[in-house]
Amino acid sequence: MQAVSLKAYAKINLALDVLRRREDGYHEIRSVVQTISLADDLRLILKDSPEIQLVCTGDVPRDERNLAYRAARLLQEETQIPKGVRIELEKTIPVGAGLGGGSADAAAVVKGLNDLWELGLSEREMLRICARLGSDVPFCLLGGTALMQGRGEVVEPLPRLGELWLVLVRPRVQVSTAQVYRAWSQFPPGQPMVDRMLEAIRLRTPMAIAQSLGNMLEPVASCLFPEVAQVKWFLGNHTLGAVMSGSGPTVFGIVESEEEARDLEERIKSHPWDVFVVRTV
Ligand code: ATP
Repeated sequence: MQAVSLKAYAKINLALDVLRRREDGYHEIRSVVQTISLADDLRLILKDSPEIQLVCTGDVPRDERNLAYRAARLLQEETQIPKGVRIELEKTIPVGAGLGGGSADAAAVVKGLNDLWELGLSEREMLRICARLGSDVPFCLLGGTALMQGRGEVVEPLPRLGELWLVLVRPRVQVSTAQVYRAWSQFPPGQPMVDRMLEAIRLRTPMAIAQSLGNMLEPVASCLFPEVAQVKWFLGNHTLGAVMSGSGPTVFGIVESEEEARDLEERIKSHPWDVFVVRTV
């Protein structure tokens, strides 16, 4: 095998409860997460020397700070493999949007290199390496629908949702995950929604899921970035239900069909926001 091509899928948080700040500075969370069709494209080309090369589009670092690069380097260190790779990364997932783009790229590189370098790692071994790369990376490796706990690295797969159509809207503001989590402690505790979402997933109806969306970081981000509240208000009025994903600023709404999603996309185009029509995968 000389090359592999693969997609790195974004995620959304259907429900996100922040439980407490831990001694190590991370936050203890519970979250129901879902893979969506919005994806980056990766091509991994085998190199016989141990060099790792990265070429990529988009507003992301092009050196060892890039999560795709870090994933390849960590895998090389862990396995002592004397091979290298040229990573070609085409970014589509907006950066710093609460959609886990960097984590998705890292997980895809681990999976792809396991094949390209013929490492023969088990899923369990790959998950351990992914956890070292970031809290959301183990989920990105598994994909589908799952419950995330701990700082995000404890992943329990859930029954897959049927196909849901979603409209994602990202206001053009720069949100720092650290800033949102820091501000969280100054807010009164929010309403936990994860248990309700788990029940809705068992019912498998779009309406039940739409009525159980919740994110404890949303009031915090809305306060720091009023654009988040504007998008939420707009989507809340035009969809079955809407909520912010991760630490924001992207807000998504659930709609009945692709047609409805496309109609809404047209109406949103007059606003200074980025819009994506996606489905669950
Ligand atoms: P997080 O909550 O982990 O910050 P996010 O979904 O909000 O996730 P990402 O798109 O993953 O945001 O980007 C977060 C940060 O990671 C950015 O500062 C970005 O420069 C950096 N980064 C490193 N590698 C990548 C990559 N391959 N794709 C996107 N961002 C990357």
